[in-house]
Amino acid sequence: MTTETSSYRSHTCGALRTGDVGQSVTLMGWVHRVRDLGGLIFFDLRDRHGITQVVIRAGSAAADLAARVRPEYVIAARGRVDSRSAETVNPKLPTGEIEVVIDTLEILNEAKTPPFPINEDTQVAEETRLRYRYLDLRRPALQKNLVLRHKVALAARRYFDDAGFLEIETPILTRSTPEGARDYLVPSRVHRGEFFALPQSPQIFKQILMIAGFDRYVQITRCFRDEDLRADRQPEFTQIDVEISFATEEIVYGVVEGAIKAMWAAAGHAVETPFPRIGYDEAMLKYGSDKPDLRPGMIISDLLPVFGDELPGFLAEAQSSAETQSLGGIALRGFIVPGAGAYSRKQLDDLVALGTTLGGRIAWARIGDAGVTSSGLKVFGAERLEKAIGVAGGKAGDLLLFMGGAMKNVADTLGRLRLHVAKSANLLRAEDFKFCWVTEFPLFEYNQDEKRWDSMHHPFTSPRPEHVGLLESNPAAVRARAYDLALNGSEIAGGSIRIHRADVQKHAFRLLGISDEDAKARFGFFLDALEFGTPPHGGIAFGLDRMVALLCGESSIREVIAFPKTAQAVDLMAGAPSEVDAKQLRELHIKSS
Ligand code: ASP
Repeated sequence: MTTETSSYRSHTCGALRTGDVGQSVTLMGWVHRVRDLGGLIFFDLRDRHGITQVVIRAGSAAADLAARVRPEYVIAARGRVDSRSAETVNPKLPTGEIEVVIDTLEILNEAKTPPFPINEDTQVAEETRLRYRYLDLRRPALQKNLVLRHKVALAARRYFDDAGFLEIETPILTRSTPEGARDYLVPSRVHRGEFFALPQSPQIFKQILMIAGFDRYVQITRCFRDEDLRADRQPEFTQIDVEISFATEEIVYGVVEGAIKAMWAAAGHAVETPFPRIGYDEAMLKYGSDKPDLRPGMIISDLLPVFGDELPGFLAEAQSSAETQSLGGIALRGFIVPGAGAYSRKQLDDLVALGTTLGGRIAWARIGDAGVTSSGLKVFGAERLEKAIGVAGGKAGDLLLFMGGAMKNVADTLGRLRLHVAKSANLLRAEDFKFCWVTEFPLFEYNQDEKRWDSMHHPFTSPRPEHVGLLESNPAAVRARAYDLALNGSEIAGGSIRIHRADVQKHAFRLLGISDEDAKARFGFFLDALEFGTPPHGGIAFGLDRMVALLCGESSIREVIAFPKTAQAVDLMAGAPSEVDAKQLRELHIKSS
């Protein structure tokens, strides 16, 4: 197989430039593309650093071997760097002004024909890509994503180190941590019938580290949540987890904004701070979302004042229904799509139909040459609609999309419609990074199915001190000292100032329907720890996968994880989960025979 053994590579496939012309070099890598022109054979030789063209002349010692080489073979090629003639320069490659003329060639390993081409950017079924992830990972797009992920994580580590944080590992085999998902359990062999849980987050451990005096903690860590399958969730994902002693919201915001600047700088983007802050209620009203996408503008406005006391009939009726009241009362709200007054009848009908799929009855209105036209002309009247367009910030040539009904439905439907319209009007540029803090979250949310209150974040979140008196009497009104960082419609970080007193923590558990005995059994160690001098503290966790996906302009986090699972929570390459030996099950006391 060998004409001569080359035992080391002198350069990577992305290194050589015109300054290297004349040098003897040895390159090693994968054959990306083969072009056999009879007298000359060209290979594009690839590694993760780049592609270099190598040339084998007919009649040279390497020529016979070269004829056998196929794409994805691993070869070593030794030769001299030569400059390319002006007409053969490849301006697309950093190495495009040179080529290496080969005198000795070695096939280091052969390769089967890959199930999809590595050298073309073709659409390949995701299932095939995941099954052959090692081949998929050879493709430049994924290599670029993983390199960026490394740089972003490194920038975060450096930033936190400079800011006095210590990276401390917390256990993977542990007890359940309540983040609202199901636990992955690991049966204990040694202790029959007992289980470890994989951490949904290191929440309790990082708080215990504060109690232990490590005043600034960070960890880039894996979290495990057995959630119902959703398109872009992974059963294991990575957080940059942070906790700070003697923290206030302002301290956390400052630390986080600095970290974002550092990570975005590592990806070549300048970020301006401080980030705007929006209260939860305002976010829900103006954007119909608790993770608003600020890019398209298109703020949702209140149109009720236009109608004063003369409510359109259907709203007047809805106002008295108990269901409407439980969904926040009546609302009439809408947003302007700038310049969309010229939409065709078909486009408008499509928007109304989309509204129906999103759960609501949408109407539109616009001012044209013939005055106001609207799908709700009869119900609302031209004069009021003209006013409504003005109130929403529109003018002739724009389009008002609006809806009336119960507040919660209106906010939700308009929020989703707004994003849909913004997307189809190309108003969502991936590189337009618009951050905002969402604050003033409710502490609890009502769980209709179980007929009880759940924590909106997690049970360790502190209520606002002025709301502590309302905990029992009006849980819905209690606001949390919690904050999320939203970026372009995604939540990229979330955290809170914590409860640091054992009595308040016990009280919070009780309100969540966790009895004292249950709290003792599940979190006794933590409640005990809280009684030994706990500093006030707070923190946050960033979703690293999502941040990197947004930085890479990818819509799926699977594109920035080397070995992700499918939306069905399966590792197609390794074939996990899988059945295990009966012997293992017996040892783990799961099977008796
Ligand atoms: N543990 C929380 C989470 O995983 C983050 C935090 O409160 O710091 O969402």
